[in-house]
Amino acid sequence: MPRYPPEQIYAAVCALLPELDEPLKGQVQSLLTQAANGQPADLQLLDLLSQDDALRQRLRRLLQAEETTREATLGGYSGLGGETYSTKAGDVFACPECGYRFVIGEDGEQPLPCEKHPRVRLSKEQ
Ligand SMILES: [Zn+2]
Repeated sequence: MPRYPPEQIYAAVCALLPELDEPLKGQVQSLLTQAANGQPADLQLLDLLSQDDALRQRLRRLLQAEETTREATLGGYSGLGGETYSTKAGDVFACPECGYRFVIGEDGEQPLPCEKHPRVRLSKEQ
């Protein structure tokens, strides 16, 4: 599989999450939590989801879709990591559709997308 930025992998994995069965779902969720706490888990997630052929195909398609969406949205913008949120340590980002919240650990950190609504733009709480 080609190399994808971790944020893109997390977003694709989040989109895949509702389709997973236990106990895989639990393992994936704990890796995503680990990533949210600042410990990279993208490679472990890829390993975990590549064990099953069907899942690996699904994930690859999602990653390619992410890339297409990103290119379409940014119109060829090639900035580092495609940063879209301006953040400071302690900022709280929330999903407007549910109770999901993400607390920024350090300046410039990007919030992880909501697991249930990975495409929804998070709003910053005041
Ligand atoms: Zn949500």
